[in-house]
Amino acid sequence: MSRLITVSQNAQSGFTVAIDGPAAAGKGAISRAVAAHFGFAHLDTGLLYRAVGRRVLGGLDPVTAAQSLDPADLVAPDSLRTAQIAEAASRVAVIPEVRAALVDFQRAFARRLGGAVLDGRDIGTVICPAADVKLFVTASPEVRAARRLKELCDNGFETDFATVLADVRARDARDGGRATAPMVPAEDALMLDTSMMAVDEAVAAAIAAVAARRAS
Ligand code: C5P
Repeated sequence: MSRLITVSQNAQSGFTVAIDGPAAAGKGAISRAVAAHFGFAHLDTGLLYRAVGRRVLGGLDPVTAAQSLDPADLVAPDSLRTAQIAEAASRVAVIPEVRAALVDFQRAFARRLGGAVLDGRDIGTVICPAADVKLFVTASPEVRAARRLKELCDNGFETDFATVLADVRARDARDGGRATAPMVPAEDALMLDTSMMAVDEAVAAAIAAVAARRAS
């Protein structure tokens, strides 16, 4: 992980937005839009766990895979967005030593001069408990499964609603139930339930929350 840390070693203090929530709640789209709107850098921290998961599927031990993660593992992020890699990511994510190996890189990214948006599961609680803005973006499992099904079908994967819903529920249970850094909203997080919201509406609410904090 040392080479990943080097990438961000020029980081200085800035404005940090922490966006957490379960899979397919909309936090990726919201994070990208908030980052673009304010000119902040964006880190999808799920990619780190997915990259570790992929290396484990390739035969590496999880802790070694996390400790030796390289920026090259994060290029072509779309190749990391398969259901199999998501599953592997959520399995390695329960291992405390794997999480520990990824902390410094995420914190250095969060301190970037010019501002940063990080999305994940434990950003507001563990990685950046002092973030300037914390959002917890959620939606019902059924709504999230329907969104994920569409995404997978659009990308040419063959699956069905029941399978995707079961995956969503299994990941929620594992991410929310693990002992280290479980997925829970920070006490001071703004809750954003996107079940009945269009993406634009959710993005507008997130941008308004960040703008209000910057103005204060
Ligand atoms: O967000 P994404 O679906 O890409 O995350 C894949 C998996 O990585 C999650 O299900 C979760 O287990 C893990 N993860 C995590 N902490 C984060 C980001 C992702 O445990 N900050």
